[in-house]
Amino acid sequence: MLKLQLSILHKFIRSRIMKVGIIGGGAAGLCSAHHVLAMGGMTPIVWEKAAKVGGTWIYTPECGRDKYGLPIHSSMYENLRTNLPKEIMGFPDFPFPEGEASFIHHTEVCKYLESYAEHFNLYPYIQFGHHVEMVTPVLKEDGPPAWNVSVKNMATETTETTTCDALIVCNGHYSVPRYPSIKDISAYKGRKVHSHDYREPSPYKDSTVVILGAAASGLDICLELSTTAKKVFLSHNHPVNIPSEFPVNVEQVRGVVAASDNGFTLSDGTFVEADVILYCTGYEYSFPFLTEECGITVEENIVKPLYKHVIHTTYPSMAFIGIPFQICPFPLFDFQVQHFIASLIHKLKLPTCEEMVSAMEDELAQLKEAGVAPRHYHKFGRSKQLAYMKEVAGEVGCRPFQPYLAKLFIVVMIRLLLDLTRFKNYSYETDKNGCDFKEYNNGVVVNTKWDLTCLIIRRGFHLLWFDFLSITKLVIMFIFKKIKFILG
Ligand SMILES: Cc1cc2nc3c(=O)[nH]c(=O)nc-3n(C[C@H](O)[C@H](O)[C@H](O)COP(=O)(O)OP(=O)(O)OC[C@H]3O[C@@H](n4cnc5c(N)ncnc54)[C@H](O)[C@@H]3O)c2cc1C
Repeated sequence: MLKLQLSILHKFIRSRIMKVGIIGGGAAGLCSAHHVLAMGGMTPIVWEKAAKVGGTWIYTPECGRDKYGLPIHSSMYENLRTNLPKEIMGFPDFPFPEGEASFIHHTEVCKYLESYAEHFNLYPYIQFGHHVEMVTPVLKEDGPPAWNVSVKNMATETTETTTCDALIVCNGHYSVPRYPSIKDISAYKGRKVHSHDYREPSPYKDSTVVILGAAASGLDICLELSTTAKKVFLSHNHPVNIPSEFPVNVEQVRGVVAASDNGFTLSDGTFVEADVILYCTGYEYSFPFLTEECGITVEENIVKPLYKHVIHTTYPSMAFIGIPFQICPFPLFDFQVQHFIASLIHKLKLPTCEEMVSAMEDELAQLKEAGVAPRHYHKFGRSKQLAYMKEVAGEVGCRPFQPYLAKLFIVVMIRLLLDLTRFKNYSYETDKNGCDFKEYNNGVVVNTKWDLTCLIIRRGFHLLWFDFLSITKLVIMFIFKKIKFILG
């Protein structure tokens, strides 16, 4: 009798526990599982198609497809060291282990994520080798829908469907290459490679390479390639050249507009011959498992309709972690997850669907007014990211991103742009009170203000001297924009 009562009680409790499905066991998925568990009254179920946690940080020399025929997920290359110091990269409640270097090798990030999963006891909730194939909403008369998630066990090739009360999509967005359209590209006889398939520089030995795009990957790969390639053309459309020094065999050139059999015409009319074009042109948001009924679209690089870049405005039981880019990913994920969970348990009252949609539309309209292309809607950068984290953390009452970390972020960004070849030689140490940081260069303490001022003056003069026309054009455009703004 007692056994029966206990089993009924157990069933009752289980039926009351909210089941939260999580797609992906990378940094965002692990962070989601951790906060779902920590909340109590909820249980996570994480589906991960790979055999271990880490997502994009799991390096593989392979390109193309894995042993199950699925596209290789990771875009990691063999020698990658982080472009953010570990002091800002970590989750707020789980710092990276101490160590001298700040810009660490990717294997250390992978280890860090494994120890995060262990520390917060997440492994029992993760199903490895499970590929999410289809998601459909289960509409209810009132309240947000539940979600039917069909998942294929890759080893047994069987598919099962689980119904979840809420769903967090954490499938990463550095996996599906984006290719810009280039006139006559089919005529080009050289090699075409996307950074997703770049692993190490030896295949480019003695070649002339055009790297298309000068964001994080383009810059980093450019430095690596310059060690083996004969010549690297770093092609971009930034209004002025990147003011950093580069190795002697690297030349910054304008964006590519057309191809011929042996090279490329640039937007200033010049022509460069090249053996390889390496596309560092970014990635597409892709959610192949979401059926049309889920109501999510991706247009012009905008995932819609999301409130605060996270919560589905029509079906607020679905969230997307990690959509913004040019961010400090792990801390931002942490805030986003806590925000969504607070909304699930009604600790945070969401605005109505109409209000959430109009908040999104207002943000888009403001961007357009400021002359920003819609495809940069999810691009945060420094100031938008800090304001966003402050707002989101404030709404759910969690500890905001520390101001000294924001300062450290700016220091690193300036060094990256002005001193690309050396910025990873610096390391950082947080003081005991966790309120400030010290900067070291090869083990010697740096007077950051003085050092940065000298660097800015040096590189500023260099830029003025070598790129005077572009700077003048930029200043005139800036003044013109301001006048236009003042005149309404
Ligand atoms: C080359 C490169 C360098 C970077 N350098 C830095 C850096 O220095 N510092 C930094 O902070 N960030 C860096 N990043 C950003 C990095 O992507 C984020 O830090 C973060 O790891 C992203 O985590 P995620 O969980 O959103 O995505 P991912 O790590 O991509 O994880 C997504 C997971 O979802 C799984 N998955 C996808 N689809 C399915 C499916 N249908 N079913 C089941 N599982 C699925 C994948 O297998 C994967 O494990 C870099 C990214 C790249 C590509």
